[in-house]
Amino acid sequence: MNLKKYLEKDHSELRSVVKKFANDQLFSTSSERDRCENFDETIFLKMKNIGLLGVLVPECYGGLNLDILASMIVHEEIAYADPSIALSYLAHCILCTNNIVINASEKQKQDLVPKLCDGIHIGAMAMSEADAGSDIMSMNTKVRKVNNKYHLNGSKMWITNGMINKSKLACHILYLYAKNEDTNMISSFVIENTCPGFYVGQKISNKLGMRASSTAELVFDDCVLSEDNIVSEGSSIRNMMRNLQIERLALAAIGLGIAKFSLNTMIKYSRHRKTFSNFLHNYGQIQRFIANSYSEYMACKSYLYATAKEMKKDDFNFRVDSDSIKLVCAKLSKKVSDYAIQTLGGYGYIAEYHVERFWRDAKLLEIGGGTNEILQKNITRDLVKNENNTL
Ligand SMILES: Cc1cc2nc3c(=O)[nH]c(=O)nc-3n(C[C@H](O)[C@H](O)[C@H](O)COP(=O)(O)OP(=O)(O)OC[C@H]3O[C@@H](n4cnc5c(N)ncnc54)[C@H](O)[C@@H]3O)c2cc1C
Repeated sequence: MNLKKYLEKDHSELRSVVKKFANDQLFSTSSERDRCENFDETIFLKMKNIGLLGVLVPECYGGLNLDILASMIVHEEIAYADPSIALSYLAHCILCTNNIVINASEKQKQDLVPKLCDGIHIGAMAMSEADAGSDIMSMNTKVRKVNNKYHLNGSKMWITNGMINKSKLACHILYLYAKNEDTNMISSFVIENTCPGFYVGQKISNKLGMRASSTAELVFDDCVLSEDNIVSEGSSIRNMMRNLQIERLALAAIGLGIAKFSLNTMIKYSRHRKTFSNFLHNYGQIQRFIANSYSEYMACKSYLYATAKEMKKDDFNFRVDSDSIKLVCAKLSKKVSDYAIQTLGGYGYIAEYHVERFWRDAKLLEIGGGTNEILQKNITRDLVKNENNTL
């Protein structure tokens, strides 16, 4: 089935197609991928076959050109089956492809975006470094301009999709931020893994969660880049901040998927499990887990969907809301998956019911794409800054 026939308004049909895909193609193999810490790239080919790699991409580059809400629904439903795959999908579609679509030159888009929609080329985005995560402006990957060439040196850490499993090569296409050696301003580049000097430093193994997504350190050892590689020279902060908005919404959508799976598991289990001759759902403490999870899930979902509906693909104006949505949805996913483990007792603690995996995966949402503390700092700063700001 091809998603192309689903127009922007048909979000419910889009959801049911993605839900079926995720259930049929992802869920039954999710525990094994988690156990082996195995990023299975063939899943991207399957996604490509129903158009999922181009949800936001304009049709002229091979995409479906759907809206941001559609993209959120896809993240949520993939996460319902396997949050790790949703994270890899996010890195590919939002961090790499969407960044190129919004910021790159026409030539770069024509060269790279169809490849990113083909299911074979894997994309990633590299901003963080070993010594620069929250404090991103202290990044130390440097670019030096010599005549018309750019010499790139340094390394990036924690890069989702950074390494392609089978070949051990770096991702095919990387959207990269680096600092100009002379001006200290941030520039952005697109690099393919055929570039000499660009390689995987190490695979990051033994992660707590999101184990089926690949995470790697990437190294740039005097990579020589040309003008064809540059997206924006010295003025990339604005682009970075703009992409962080949609990244945070998509991470929040993954949180919703985790919460929904955990809530459904609690509901089903409490219907059938008896203790002291009573079904679990008759106990007030279990009712608190279920009812609080449902009401908070619905509140978070309403906030995310309302914002996603309003936001345009190249919007700058949703910083407070995207930060706030990620903050509440990350906490929601951890809390609801924790409630689910508690509701299932010993069965919640083992892999059979999956909620322990969702709980481990949920923790990443409080760190990646901006930690809870950084979001709290940003939200407060923005609210206090404007004296006319009243809610
Ligand atoms: C699995 C995974 C995948 C990732 N994928 C990517 C990716 O694809 N691309 C990419 O570029 N990055 C990626 N990251 C990096 C991620 O965005 C960073 O880990 C995150 O921004 C936090 O940076 P840090 O780890 O350096 O922590 P630090 O910045 O060192 O923070 C450590 C702690 O200090 C707190 N802290 C820091 N500053 C303040 C402050 N001013 N006030 C209060 N508290 C503060 C933080 O909240 C945190 O609790 C990924 C990370 C992980 C774990």
